[in-house]
Amino acid sequence: MKTLITGGAGFVGSHLAEELLNRGDKVVVIDNLSTGSMDNIEHLKERSKRFSYYIDTIMNEGLMRRLIKGCDIVYHMAAAVGVKYIIDNPLESIQTNVRGTEIVLDLANSQGKKKVVVASTSEIYGKDRPGKRSFREGDDRVLGPTTISRWSYSSTKALDEFLALAYWREKKLPVVIVRLFNTCGPRQTGRYGMVMPRFVKQALLGQPITIYGDGKQTRSFTYVLDVVRAIAELAQDKKAVGEIFNVGNPKAITINELAQKVKRLAGSGSSITHIPYEKAYEKGFEDMRHREPDITKIRLLIGFRPKVELDEMIANIIKYFKR
Ligand code: UDP
Repeated sequence: MKTLITGGAGFVGSHLAEELLNRGDKVVVIDNLSTGSMDNIEHLKERSKRFSYYIDTIMNEGLMRRLIKGCDIVYHMAAAVGVKYIIDNPLESIQTNVRGTEIVLDLANSQGKKKVVVASTSEIYGKDRPGKRSFREGDDRVLGPTTISRWSYSSTKALDEFLALAYWREKKLPVVIVRLFNTCGPRQTGRYGMVMPRFVKQALLGQPITIYGDGKQTRSFTYVLDVVRAIAELAQDKKAVGEIFNVGNPKAITINELAQKVKRLAGSGSSITHIPYEKAYEKGFEDMRHREPDITKIRLLIGFRPKVELDEMIANIIKYFKR
C-alpha cells in the first residue's frame, strides 16, 4: 500500500510510520513540525527507501492534492494536541482541527475516494458524570461552557468525526475513526502538558514530581505500539469502514499512584508535590476525574487486546529519556 500520514513526525504518527514500514507499505509523511520533530523520523530516512517526507502544512491544498492523489490510504494524525497546547493556542487549534480535516476529507473524496483513517480522542466524551468511569462509542457527550478551551478541543474533534461520517454517508468515502485514550511511549514530550513524560523527566532530573489537584483522578494509559498496531489493523478491515472505535487500555490508575510508580521505577529521590489547578493552568481549564475506554467493539472486530502493561511502558519511557 502507498500510505500518507499527516502529522507523521509527531509522537503517534512517527510510530505509525514505523509500523506501516514494517508491514511493507510505502510511507509518505507530511508534518509542519508544530508539535512533531525531525528527531522522530530521522532513523526512518536512513532505514527505508520506502519512506519520504514533506515539511509543510496540511493547509497547503496544492501539495495535499498531489500527495493524496498518489496514495491508496490517508492516516490523518495531524492535529493540535495536548491540554496545555490547546489552552495556549486556542485559535490555531481550532483552525488545524477543523479546516485541516475538511481539506483532507474533501481531497480524499475528489482524488479517487481514498480511505481516510481519522485520529480522534477520548476528550470527545467530555465531562465527568456521577458514577461513570468507562465510555463506549455510542455514549452521550457532556461538555462544559465555551469559555473553557478544553471543550473547544473536544468540539473540534467531534466536528472532525461528524465531517468524516457525513462524507461516508453522503459520498461513500470510506472512513474509519479511532478515539485514542491517553497514549504514551517514547518520543512523547511533556511540553504540551502530558503527564507521563512530565513525571518521568521530573523523576530522572530529581525535580519535584508535580501532581495537579488532589491526584485522586484516574487515567488509563495505553502504550503507543499497541495503539499503532490497532490502527493499522482497523485500516485493513472492511467492516471498520464508517465506524468509530475506542483504542485504549481499560486499566486505570490514580495520578497519585502513577507518581509513586514513576518515582520507584526511575530510582528517583524526587519529592512529590500537589499543585492547585489554578496554578498549573492559568485559565480555561477543567480536569476530568475518571475516563476509561470500553474496548468491547474493537476486541470483537479485530481481537484487540493491549499487550504492554504500565510498568513496562514506564520502563521504556525511562530508557528513552535516559538516552
Ligand atoms: N497532570 C498532573 N501533572 C502534570 C500533568 C498532568 O497531575 O504535570 C494530571 C492532569 O491534571 C490530569 C492527568 O494528569 O488529571 C492526565 O493529564 P494529561 O494532560 O496527560 O491528559 P488528559 O487530561 O488529556 O487525560
